Amino acid sequence: MSALPLIVHLDADAFFVSCELALQPALRGKRCAVGGRERGIIASANYEARAGGVYTPMPTAQALKLCPDLILLPPTRGLYSEISRQLFDLCETLTPCVQRHSIDEGFLDLGPCGFTALAEIEKSVRALQQRIVQQLGVTVSFGLATNKLVAAIASKAFKPRGFTLVSPGTEADFLAPFKINVIPGIGKITEARLNQAGLRLVKDIIALPTLELQRLFGNAAPAILALARGEDTEPVEVLQAAAQSYSTQETFPQDIGNFSQIEQVTKRMIDELMPKIRADDKKSKTLTIKIRYSGMEDNSTSRSLTEASDLESSFYPFVTALLKAVWTKRRPLRLVSVRFSGIEHPSHQLEIFKEVDAKKRRLAGVLDQLNSRGPQPIVRSGHQLAPQPKRPGDTDHGCAGGGR
Ligand SMILES: [Mg+2]
Repeated sequence: MSALPLIVHLDADAFFVSCELALQPALRGKRCAVGGRERGIIASANYEARAGGVYTPMPTAQALKLCPDLILLPPTRGLYSEISRQLFDLCETLTPCVQRHSIDEGFLDLGPCGFTALAEIEKSVRALQQRIVQQLGVTVSFGLATNKLVAAIASKAFKPRGFTLVSPGTEADFLAPFKINVIPGIGKITEARLNQAGLRLVKDIIALPTLELQRLFGNAAPAILALARGEDTEPVEVLQAAAQSYSTQETFPQDIGNFSQIEQVTKRMIDELMPKIRADDKKSKTLTIKIRYSGMEDNSTSRSLTEASDLESSFYPFVTALLKAVWTKRRPLRLVSVRFSGIEHPSHQLEIFKEVDAKKRRLAGVLDQLNSRGPQPIVRSGHQLAPQPKRPGDTDHGCAGGGR
């Protein structure tokens, strides 16, 4: 066991509503919640609203009845994933070892930071906590411990603005007074069954005679006992080589000066990359087009969507404008390249938004499947061209991973 609490769990406080209040600070201190009137569910409630009995997920109608002064805020598209990205980017200024667990929760491993004293760790994590609130306007609770299990329980133990440090060697004592449902794997049904057997708190599990423990948990008994003692060896998992961009390029056998031909080639490259982005369960925000004139002179320009997308149709409208902006000399081109960056995970999106593009995405998925079956691509919008023969020695395209 490490002599220092090098594992940190962070959990943003009432994240969605905090993001909204970062945009509308005048509403701070009032009872606020994010939720849809149409969907009728509270997605996030601030602590003032919680004090009024509002919780998530609660039907909006019930929340308004309970709390007539509740200010109901509609979710802002793209806001939460953007603030989440900035939140984890700030964490990565402290350590490169950051596991983004959900939109507002993550683990940090401070192992690579070279800390030798507890005071250094505390100072650095408190500084990060301050930076987050100053730069993003949202508050985050931190738990520090020697492992992920205890750190995650610690961050949730005291909220909001929590900072809970579990000293090495005190993990079992720290967990002892918690309800048994803090132990991973003990869900509602198991909890009810264990309550009936007289087990309510973690310390009740520790106190069980071995035979009784085995009767209740069977083969899982040793694992449950270890967890109850706060023992955990799960590593902080950083996604290796998560793709930061997707790109492809085409070098023409003969330089091309025809605008609509270049436009078609560009759209075809979008068609080529987007299925890869979808297959990786990612979305992109930014499209960059680069051109090269025959004298090896390059020019590039880019444009971003307000919300990341994994649909070809979101980026097609940019193509003409980007080409006009970048291809100023109108001399024939030797090469065109397309790059998608601003890569995001759709799982970081709020559930409410997922419905919106579901239909289009299903269609795109069907096309991907069809295209993967045969050599002949299914035409999407009439801009498929026969592939250009390659110049010898030219590299064609590649999917650039972040690790490369
Ligand atoms: Mg949270």
